[in-house]
Amino acid sequence: MDAERQRVLIFDDEVSVGRSIELMVRHNGRDAMAVTDAASFFEAILNWKPTHIILDLVMPGMDGVEVLQSLANLECRANIAISSGVGKRVLSAAQRSAAEHGLRAVEVLPKPFTMRALADFLAIDPQPVDGRSEEGRLTPHVFDPISAADVQGAIEKRQLRLVYQPKIDCKTQMLRGFEALARWEHPELGIIMPDRFIPLSERIGLIGPITDQVVDLALSWFSGVGSTSQLSISINISAKTLGHREFPDDLEFKCRLASIPTDRVILEVTETAAMDDELLALDMFTRLRMKGFQVSIDDFGIGNSSLALLARLPFSEIKVDMTFAMDATKSNEAKAIIRSTVDLSHSLDLKVVTEGVEDRETLEYLREIGCDYAQGYYIARPMSVAQVAKWMQTPRG
Ligand code: C2E
Ligand code: CA
Ligand code: CA
Repeated sequence: MDAERQRVLIFDDEVSVGRSIELMVRHNGRDAMAVTDAASFFEAILNWKPTHIILDLVMPGMDGVEVLQSLANLECRANIAISSGVGKRVLSAAQRSAAEHGLRAVEVLPKPFTMRALADFLAIDPQPVDGRSEEGRLTPHVFDPISAADVQGAIEKRQLRLVYQPKIDCKTQMLRGFEALARWEHPELGIIMPDRFIPLSERIGLIGPITDQVVDLALSWFSGVGSTSQLSISINISAKTLGHREFPDDLEFKCRLASIPTDRVILEVTETAAMDDELLALDMFTRLRMKGFQVSIDDFGIGNSSLALLARLPFSEIKVDMTFAMDATKSNEAKAIIRSTVDLSHSLDLKVVTEGVEDRETLEYLREIGCDYAQGYYIARPMSVAQVAKWMQTPRG
């Protein structure tokens, strides 16, 4: 490939370092761009489509390994060089992990690096992608008009809000807790639903700060509502969070500050996330449970895992995927799945929540078969803080 058609993206939090690498690359006759933050980096990945990437692995407030994982998720085909002041062992571990994630030609550049090392790296030609393209590029994706920079902006400007959906006891219909669900209040686009920004944030490595804000908002609201009662607060966490070793300690610290007993807090992880990396899930769940938190398996029943397989993980509750409840009135099969999940869960001493309950008939069926808890539009929609306060004052029966 012609040198002048190569685009080299440099990600280093130090402006002067990035700038000097940029100059060295240009001196080598390639186009170069240096960025200092994750949002601009992923923006450039998606739109500028670099053929080569030079990445500083250790940057404050950013996890270089996570950046590599996100690149792998995006099926990035660029040649990647990682550099950093950290020891060679760490760099080569990162190199191995990147290769295992399917990233190609990951080189280690010692820092500060020489013109020679740089020239060698740039000489590696990007491989054609399944013969069709002659340049290292991302495989095509359908990208949402929401950009990485927008998500970064949402975090910085604190535009995330939470709505809360009640969870009730099927037998007594008493309120048992709430699930916190994220909404992005965009100044121009209005309310953006989580399906449009959570998966995107996971891909671009920004789910960490989003989860932090969700946790802060949920705990601060819950400390005023129900921490002294027996109510619980459920918070959704992403598969990515399973790899954040500091998460249980941070959460425990935040609960202590908010005077919330840890056993009132339920972390919801989807079945697919848990089974994706069972070892990581085992590690994270065990540490969370040791601190008293509860763990729930979300969207159960649509993955391929059996409950028996999952039961090796220390979770306390299972949430039957809402598609089953939504089909229950017209499908005996859906009913049978809910019933057998309830039976098996109880034999394993687990609580069962069925979500997506949209009518009285389904709630009655759940009560009949001994399902513990229910959630759904029939009971209440996810509500703003003000709406919840009103809802809690309204008598139900
Ligand atoms: P989920 O955790 O399975 O949440 C349940 C979703 O079903 C919510 O959608 C809720 O509004 C909706 N829902 C509840 N009851 C009913 C019902 O009776 N009928 C129907 N048709 N829908 C019902 P929402 O709020 O759009 O959230 C979508 C997904 O986004 C969530 O699915 C969860 O996976 C993810 N999510 C939401 N907030 C967060 C968050 O703070 N962090 C992470 N990592 N993921 C989140
Ligand atoms: Ca959930
Ligand atoms: Ca669910």
